[in-house]
Amino acid sequence: MTENLIELQNVNAGYGSDMVLQNINLAVKRGDFLGIIGPNGSGKTTLLKIILGILTPKTGTVTLFGKNSAEFSGWQKIGYVPQKAGSNLMKFPITVWETVSLGRLTRSRWIDFERPIDTRAIENALQSVDMLSHKHRLLNELSGGQVQRVFIAKALASHPELLVLDEPTVGVDTESQAKFYELLKSLNREKGLTLILVSHDIDVVAHEVSSVACINRTIISHGKPKDILKGDFMKKLYGEHLRMVVHGH
Ligand code: ADP
Repeated sequence: MTENLIELQNVNAGYGSDMVLQNINLAVKRGDFLGIIGPNGSGKTTLLKIILGILTPKTGTVTLFGKNSAEFSGWQKIGYVPQKAGSNLMKFPITVWETVSLGRLTRSRWIDFERPIDTRAIENALQSVDMLSHKHRLLNELSGGQVQRVFIAKALASHPELLVLDEPTVGVDTESQAKFYELLKSLNREKGLTLILVSHDIDVVAHEVSSVACINRTIISHGKPKDILKGDFMKKLYGEHLRMVVHGH
């Protein structure tokens, strides 16, 4: 049986008295490409925070790579590409290479010299997103699509087994988005990387992911895109805003 990389059982979590996530049960298997969709404020980012160990659940169990999250220490196995990943670093004169080298820092190793093993990991990560030839360029000289690929490389530099992406294509043009999803697909199918993608773009989710979880403070539905993304169900999740969501306006 394929191993569960992530397992949430009866998880309740939130901020203060606001229980944003209620009774969440979710398993992500090795090799999955899971899309998470739901209206604004439905708890998608909060769910990612639980998976990334940034937020501790009030009750319930989170198991990461077979270990209870409180005892889990293999954080380098989980790569994360946050929303608007480039926006803070782009204020500084930082190069593509330097940005990806930050991905070699781990929770237990913050300051060090770049070792040969780091150099190879950075080169390979840049190569896999087709950005090695841009390694000396400044981040703020790149297009939105290129910046996004650099941040994927930064996440890949620690050799994660699971990559978590939060709304990664916001502000990226349509052509670069298509290239980006091709990249994700090849990382998933050819390199066996497990992916979790939060996206507001239901069309993309329907075409690219292997399973989809719909969330509105609890998991409303989880399964294959063709079974989940049927009209009636989506109307229930998004109400009258469905047309806007589907057409991306
Ligand atoms: P989504 O990613 O689906 O838009 P979020 O997980 O960001 O949803 O937010 C879910 C709810 O939790 C919202 O009502 C939001 O206002 C609230 N929330 C998110 N982050 C915090 C925080 N740090 N402190 C208090 N409330 C928060």
